[in-house]
Amino acid sequence: MKILVVNAGSSSLKYQLIDMETEGVIAKGNVERIGIAGSVLKAKGNGHEKVYEQDMPDHKVAIELVLHALTDGEIGVIKSMEEIGAVGHRVVASGEYFKKPTLVDGEVLKTLEKTFELGPLHNPAAATGVKACIEVMPHTPMVLVFDTSFHQTMPPKAYMYGIKFEDYKAYSVRKYGAHGTSHKFVSQEAAKYLGKDIKDLKTVTCHLGNGSSISAVDGGVCVDTSMGFTPLDGVLMGTRSGCIDASAVEFLARKKGYDAARMVTYLNKECGVLGISGVSSDFRDLIAGAEAGNERCQLALDMFAYQTKKFIGSYAAAMGGLDCIVFTAGIGENTPTVREGACEGLEFLGVKLDKEANYGKNTGSVREISAKDSKVKVLVIPTNEELVIARETLALV
Ligand code: AMP
Repeated sequence: MKILVVNAGSSSLKYQLIDMETEGVIAKGNVERIGIAGSVLKAKGNGHEKVYEQDMPDHKVAIELVLHALTDGEIGVIKSMEEIGAVGHRVVASGEYFKKPTLVDGEVLKTLEKTFELGPLHNPAAATGVKACIEVMPHTPMVLVFDTSFHQTMPPKAYMYGIKFEDYKAYSVRKYGAHGTSHKFVSQEAAKYLGKDIKDLKTVTCHLGNGSSISAVDGGVCVDTSMGFTPLDGVLMGTRSGCIDASAVEFLARKKGYDAARMVTYLNKECGVLGISGVSSDFRDLIAGAEAGNERCQLALDMFAYQTKKFIGSYAAAMGGLDCIVFTAGIGENTPTVREGACEGLEFLGVKLDKEANYGKNTGSVREISAKDSKVKVLVIPTNEELVIARETLALV
């Protein structure tokens, strides 16, 4: 079966068509500026790339163009859209409404609307993407795959905040986590690489990208994760502050004259390593800055590695042991200094890096960067969130 994976943003839409027999990507692309002047689809298929510059006033038109590209004489990979067995849609936030991947029907679409306030930037866009696909391919099964599903196994002691229980009950304010598909994928790949049954492994997965989250995966099941009610929690990130004392937020708001909404924008968009360095949210720029002697770039890098290390250590404690650490995503896969800093001082847990392997070339496949005699295996594993979405979709249809 061929499965189309759709990741819809408010003005963008990324897709991959995956052949589930080989799990290979047969076509992929990216629509930008939906509803804005200058809409464009950059599509790849059949070994070629094609750019479609045309007006796309809404997601329906964008999806129609994607299907056109998939069947295009030059870059097309299928004869008709009937060949698409199902569509898997990435959804960022599920709240407590959805615990697992879900086949779409009218009722599900209504429930999806209830999640909008939990993922205001992403979930309405996902719903728009789903509706657009239903209009264009009404007989094809649609599946919602949530970033939060993998974290639904966390026990209450891990997901609860220390707020009034009645307020948790009334408003569902608790930790949900994010990047679940990535944490699931790399923890499974780690077990495969190590030739172990995942049930016997205690793994900390570090998804370090522009958004970063760290998870404790015990026996293949998520028992804790660093992101919270929203993806603002945990380690500091590209532009997000990560954990901060709530009283400091109120104090800052008063000093700066910001209301609550402005403060949330500040913490999400203006802080993190960008705010610390004053230079960039991109780690390549921070590394170049630090090498040129910029102390604030160095501080941002040090804070990021230190906070990551603290999560690794606390999750080893939470699981009562540690067999494997996995680094993934843009920074996790490409930035040896961060991996080195995050593992430094963890020798007492049995973590010993092979410096040469850590600084070795990124091969784009699983790499072992721990020393031969390291009790804890340290791996770099390229993530593949689209493949997990496709697998979950296939399992449901
Ligand atoms: P992601 O959100 O997973 O796409 O990761 C994005 C971040 O990864 C970028 O902002 C960079 O900071 C970092 N990154 C990506 N490629 C590299 C690289 N080759 N070297 C260092 N950092 C990188």
